[in-house]
Amino acid sequence: MRWVFLGPPGAGKGTQAKKIAKLRGVPHISTGDLLRTEVGTKTELGVKAKEYMDSGELVPDDLVIEMVVQRLGSLDGYLLDGFPRTLAQAQALHDRTNGDGVERVFDFELDEDRIISRLSGRRTCRSCGAMYHVDFLPSEKEDVCDNCGGELFQRDDDKPATIRHRTQIARRQAGPLLEFYDKLGILETIDASRSPDVVHEELRGYLGDP
Ligand SMILES: [Zn+2]
Repeated sequence: MRWVFLGPPGAGKGTQAKKIAKLRGVPHISTGDLLRTEVGTKTELGVKAKEYMDSGELVPDDLVIEMVVQRLGSLDGYLLDGFPRTLAQAQALHDRTNGDGVERVFDFELDEDRIISRLSGRRTCRSCGAMYHVDFLPSEKEDVCDNCGGELFQRDDDKPATIRHRTQIARRQAGPLLEFYDKLGILETIDASRSPDVVHEELRGYLGDP
């Protein structure tokens, strides 16, 4: 299985990717996790990437491509989550796998108001990193972590202005990317406004028999 999940943050594709990857026993490769690892361990790629992330910009193609290609190595199966994000990345991935890479691409669709309401409610613990959501997963006491009593805060990534900015850039870049996969005949569109269980069942339908 060599699948790609695309779509805005907040569309639930990360959660879906985790479940499907586990079901099939393939690695779930998220550019977000890759980036955090590179930034956290302060690799050369990570330090460069952090400057863009801090200003709410997307990390440039060549940086991300290099991280992903390193990670893919010689894997037989994978579920790529949030990559490729641009046509240039898609073409690079296509070329590096001799056109025999990605089998199916799922585009998770969600409108901007829904994205903002889902993401801006996120809260993160300063001490242990636990994640909450003011509506969907509230802490017992407001702004206090259930696990460790630490202070909860809203990451810059989760502020409405940052979300709107990032969503608009991503949407502009997604057009040619989706067209690329559509022409290859491997693009499926997923309505991500539905409940996670319904979306999961739809995705399972594409797996066929184990
Ligand atoms: Zn905590």
